[in-house]
Amino acid sequence: MYILLMGPPGAGKGTQAERLVEAYHIPHISTGDMFRAAVKQGTELGKEAKRYMDAGQLVPDAVTIGIVKDGLSKPECKQGFLLDGFPRTSEQAVALDATLAELGIALTRVVNIVVPDSELVARVTGRRICKACGATYHVSFNASKVDGICDKCGGTLYQRDDDREETVMKRLEVYHSQTKPLIDYYKTQGLYTEIDGLQAIDKVFDDITASLRSNV
Ligand SMILES: [Zn+2]
Repeated sequence: MYILLMGPPGAGKGTQAERLVEAYHIPHISTGDMFRAAVKQGTELGKEAKRYMDAGQLVPDAVTIGIVKDGLSKPECKQGFLLDGFPRTSEQAVALDATLAELGIALTRVVNIVVPDSELVARVTGRRICKACGATYHVSFNASKVDGICDKCGGTLYQRDDDREETVMKRLEVYHSQTKPLIDYYKTQGLYTEIDGLQAIDKVFDDITASLRSNV
């Protein structure tokens, strides 16, 4: 099972990724993790990526693709993987196809968890985090007993800057403009499935596994 999982911030991608990895016994390949590992291990590409990151610059595609290629070439990825956070552009998608072809594998399915922007904004902007213990709450879905106070330790709850409405809207705008060409790319290949992320977590998972079964 070679799964590419897509979804905007707040769509519940992390939860579904965890479940899929467990259900299919496949490694979770997150580009963020691969980057950190490459930098930590001091590989050539890791060093190169670090130079850009330290300078506050975007890591060029060639470096990113190289790091992803190294990650996917590892023996634990032979039987399958769940890829998350890559590709972000259609150029990267083309490069990923070339890499997979070299490795003699092909994506089973590209799954996109879709949630309307208004709902994503509500989900993300309602998050509150305890300054003292890091516990997470949500003003509507998982509110603390006393407004602004942590149930566990009595600490003060705050909203991360990343979770503010303007930031979330901007992030979604960037996400959509980047993702649109990717969606078209995978639609053309007949690999693309959209999953309704407004459903209960179990139903989202069932829909994903059903879409995967239909393709093997
Ligand atoms: Zn706390």
